[in-house]
Amino acid sequence: MPSVADAHLGGRPRTEHPVIAMRDVVKRYRMGDTDVHALRGISLEIDRGDFVAIMGTSGSGKSTLMNIVGCLDVPTRGHYWLDGVDVRTLEDDDLARIRNRKIGFVFQSFNLLPRMSAAANVELPLTYAGVHPKQRRARAVQALRSVGLGERTHHVPSEMSGGQQQRAAVARAIVTNPALILADEPTGNLDTESSIDVMSVFASLHAQGRTVVLITHEDDIAAYAQRIVKLRDGRIIDDHRRDASGAHSTHVAHAEADHGVFR
Ligand code: ADP
Ligand code: MG
Repeated sequence: MPSVADAHLGGRPRTEHPVIAMRDVVKRYRMGDTDVHALRGISLEIDRGDFVAIMGTSGSGKSTLMNIVGCLDVPTRGHYWLDGVDVRTLEDDDLARIRNRKIGFVFQSFNLLPRMSAAANVELPLTYAGVHPKQRRARAVQALRSVGLGERTHHVPSEMSGGQQQRAAVARAIVTNPALILADEPTGNLDTESSIDVMSVFASLHAQGRTVVLITHEDDIAAYAQRIVKLRDGRIIDDHRRDASGAHSTHVAHAEADHGVFR
């Protein structure tokens, strides 16, 4: 059955849609009597299994883009399909449901509940998703094991290091088996060693075939990704993919350049 995105993206049926497809996304914020142009026309496709770093200086629009990609906010103008679904067609309830089902979020500040154990924190999205209580704990423990925290399931956040807390947050992000893992400056509060720890977890998630989109302003963090998209003043100014060796990179074509992206 063709998806909504297929209908919008042209006549040819596609066997698999991208996880993210954006066309001419604009986001404006009203501040008093002035408009802040946070995004000035973003067109972007991200395929399943890719590992993408979104880069740019402070104020370039990274978090705004992440909020739209994560269905936490909606574009002022333009189109966005998440996993083939046009998000404009969704009511708030459906948006919340799709967010829970399709996206695992990781934030700079971990956002773990302080009084709950690592396992209980990781179980939360399963509770919202209506997973049977008997299955929740087993899946949470499995997710914690996969990020190297199998020994820490009963610890509360204050008993864990920053790196361990962030790995618990990654476990919480993957426990629902989402189509997309979305991380906004996930190493922003971590020292170098913990950053490497957390980034190796993202690298292994990517190696397992998961789709990871990570926001950072640090080159050595972006270096873990296969593709680097650079923002400036709410526009994409560069989009490159590295080859397997990491030695060479190729430019990723965009709709504005050759109208090939949304064929
Ligand atoms: P980054 O994450 O790259 O630092 P942001 O997406 O947070 O950038 O911000 C992009 C621009 O939009 C900035 O000029 C910022 O001040 C503005 N902005 C972001 N969120 C809001 C908001 N809720 N209201 C008004 N302006 C905002
Ligand atoms: Mg930001």
